Amino acid sequence: MDVHNKATRSKNMRAIGTRDTAIEKRLALLLEEAGFVFTVQDAALPGRPDFVLADYHCVIFTHGCFWHHHDCYLFKVPATRTDFWLEKIGKNVERDRRDVQRLRELGWRVLIVWECALKGREKLSDDELRERLEEWICGGGDHAQIDTLGIR
Ligand SMILES: [Zn+2]
Repeated sequence: MDVHNKATRSKNMRAIGTRDTAIEKRLALLLEEAGFVFTVQDAALPGRPDFVLADYHCVIFTHGCFWHHHDCYLFKVPATRTDFWLEKIGKNVERDRRDVQRLRELGWRVLIVWECALKGREKLSDDELRERLEEWICGGGDHAQIDTLGIR
C-alpha cells in the first residue's frame, strides 16, 4: 500500500539512497513502508541522528553493537590491541550519552535501535519491528526517557 504522495516518496527515497549500512537501510525501508516522513543524518542536531521524524519530535539512531558497546552476543572484546579498542569504544559510548542528553534537553525523544534487532540470528521480523517502531513513535511518552529496541 502506497501511503505517500509522489513528492514525499521521492524525498524519502533520496534519503534512503544516502544510507551506507545494511542496518540503516533496513530501518529506513521499514519507516518508509510504515508511512513516516523523515530526514537522515541531520547535522544540525547533536550526534547527527540517523533519522529525524520532525512531525513526532523524535530521533532514531541505529547503533552497531560493537562500536557502541551493546551488551549482546555481537559485542566481543577484541583479542588483539584490546586497550586501543576498549578506549575507542569507550569514547563512542561517552559521546552517545552526551548526544542523547543534549537531544533530551532540546526536547527530542530518542530511540536507539541496535544492530542485533535489525540483522543476525536474533533479528526481529519486519512486522515486529514495524509494530514496535509505530508504538514508540506514535505513543508520545516521556521526553526524558531513552528507549532502546534490541536483543539483550
Ligand atoms: Zn546488540
